[in-house]
Amino acid sequence: MVDAGNKGLLADSAMIAHGRGEAFDYLLGEVTIESASRAIREAAARLKNAKSPVISVNGNTVVLAGEQLIRVAAVLGCPIEVNLYYRTPERVSGLLAMLREQRERVSHEGGPSDFEGEWGSAVMSVPLIGEDPDFRIAGLEGPRSFCTEEGIGLADLVLVPLEDGDRCGALVNSGKDVIVIDLNPLSRSSLGATVTIVDEVSRSSEVLLGEILRCRRGPAEWDNIVGLRDALSVISDSVGRI
Ligand code: ATP
Ligand code: MG
Repeated sequence: MVDAGNKGLLADSAMIAHGRGEAFDYLLGEVTIESASRAIREAAARLKNAKSPVISVNGNTVVLAGEQLIRVAAVLGCPIEVNLYYRTPERVSGLLAMLREQRERVSHEGGPSDFEGEWGSAVMSVPLIGEDPDFRIAGLEGPRSFCTEEGIGLADLVLVPLEDGDRCGALVNSGKDVIVIDLNPLSRSSLGATVTIVDEVSRSSEVLLGEILRCRRGPAEWDNIVGLRDALSVISDSVGRI
């Protein structure tokens, strides 16, 4: 994160958001809690079932979990879109360059044992988009509304880690299923998403990959508040650990 910040790839507020996440992770015991595992399984089912899913990433997500999410995108055959709240052309192209390097590295790994197909070409076919926005998220003003039509614009489901609450709300209002990964169970994104995974982005993306490969079911009825309440109770139970 520090290196990426020094290279100008992150917004000034990125470290503040990161610290906020670390504080919640500490209180959650730095593990994937049971309710987050359930949310990850539901996210896997919805991602597999979606017609045109997209993974929307910001700077923190690319730095912390870019490689994990490229593996997820390779298995799903979906694009990854760089979509920034504080959009500048330099940061978008810098993050896309970083994703291209990550994609190259991941393509040379042996794929997951239960993946059917040719891993290298599945990985290299993951579209990395967001450079030329030609669409706007309805209900948002200015550069924070920009996105691409082929990605977020036409998607029926968006997996969007570490999203801002206004944008999460706008995506939900435009009729999309929105899966958020956010360590803060009280953020507006967590409260507004269709499915919230209260977990660290790189840890949960790794679990998500395994669940997508194993998943043999469709989406279920989902009451998102139940998981958020459980995360809060884990946090309050952390008092009992001392
Ligand atoms: P909101 O706008 O949804 O109310 P916010 O304004 O507090 O939230 P943002 O900066 O918009 O926060 O979004 C960043 C979110 O990402 C925060 O809720 C933070 O807790 C969370 N976060 C930070 N680092 C991580 C991480 N590594 N893994 C998961 N979540 C993280
Ligand atoms: Mg916010």
